[in-house]
Amino acid sequence: MSKVKNWHLKREVEYPYDGSRPSRQWAIIFDLNKCIACQTCTLACKTTWTSGKGQEYMFWNNVETKPWGGFPLGWDMRVLEKLGRQEWNQQGEYLGKTLIEAAPAHERVLHFAPTDEDWMYPNVGEDDCAGAKMEGGGHMATMPHDKWFFYLPRTCAHCTYPACLAACPRKAIYKRPEDGIVLIDQTRCKGYGECVRACPYKKSMYNPHTRTSEKCVGCYPAVEEGVQPQCVVNCIGKIRVMGFVSPPEKARDDNPVDFLIHKLGLALPYYPQLGLEPNIYYIPPIHADREYLRQMFGPKVDAAIERYKKLPDDAVAQGLLCLIGSTDRIMHRFEVNKGMAVGFDDKGAELVRVPVVEPVIERAAYDDKLGAIRNNTP
Ligand code: SF4
Ligand code: SF4
Ligand code: SF4
Repeated sequence: MSKVKNWHLKREVEYPYDGSRPSRQWAIIFDLNKCIACQTCTLACKTTWTSGKGQEYMFWNNVETKPWGGFPLGWDMRVLEKLGRQEWNQQGEYLGKTLIEAAPAHERVLHFAPTDEDWMYPNVGEDDCAGAKMEGGGHMATMPHDKWFFYLPRTCAHCTYPACLAACPRKAIYKRPEDGIVLIDQTRCKGYGECVRACPYKKSMYNPHTRTSEKCVGCYPAVEEGVQPQCVVNCIGKIRVMGFVSPPEKARDDNPVDFLIHKLGLALPYYPQLGLEPNIYYIPPIHADREYLRQMFGPKVDAAIERYKKLPDDAVAQGLLCLIGSTDRIMHRFEVNKGMAVGFDDKGAELVRVPVVEPVIERAAYDDKLGAIRNNTP
């Protein structure tokens, strides 16, 4: 076992291979305060990538309702239960074991194998509330946030230390050095399913028709052309942005993704304690139960929520949030100047320009030039 640096956990972790960070790392940020579970992202991915034989049950992108939903059933609770106690110290260092450190002898990863039935209910628990009981009108007396749920959109996290890659006995899984996307070489894969068992996020899936495992490909053909993935550009709620995240020591304040993750501390990895350094990041929902959120996003969640509540005072952050969903291209740099937010590509060319505050234009009811009344209340 090698020791590799995991900045989510602020310590070194065990991994079967030496650390080798890609030159840049694919990442998506999701604002969970905005997701409406319309599943447009799910269908954008499905129609692009998984409409073939053996892929009928697959949702490389799925959106589940937390805390009760899960695809496959109970994926996260089952992993957390197996892992046992998870503790952090005051400095934000993880004191417990990761899935690789907790693996039994002769195994690479502490894992569980979902059954066929576990994959059969992608929308289980949809819109089910958690919180105090709702009988007797009690919910009316205790509103607004005694009851809660939120929507959690998920793709493969293209982890820095992927469990799927660690577990594959065929060395069929690789992480691309140019963008950190994790792929399964279909010519090497023999369908043993070790990656399906090992991935704690359950984002590697078995295709019984091809008898190989398959997973989210990060929409690499689009990314190579400077375009964001299908599930990002089709997001109705404009809750997502894809970019390249840097480790903390190389973070740039003008990189949109670095700004939200490192500068503001607003976007957090999910279940970082599993130890894989996953590269999908979430702005946590401000209304949900804090203990639950601490378990899912780690000890920085309280600060992230306080930061989110102060965004109205931060013109730069507001400008960046306006840019999210305003272009299908990958933004490598942004700036906010004189009330305008501007996004740039990797060569410095301007991609998009939007006002931070949408202008309100009042028009006269009578148009002198056209000699016409513009509305029906002259
Ligand atoms: S398209 Fe966007 S808003 Fe709709 S479910 Fe997906 S992430 Fe949520
Ligand atoms: S989320 Fe799962 S499938 Fe994706 S890279 Fe990480 S371990 Fe592999
Ligand atoms: S990045 Fe592409 S392949 Fe991955 S979930 Fe999104 S649409 Fe599907």
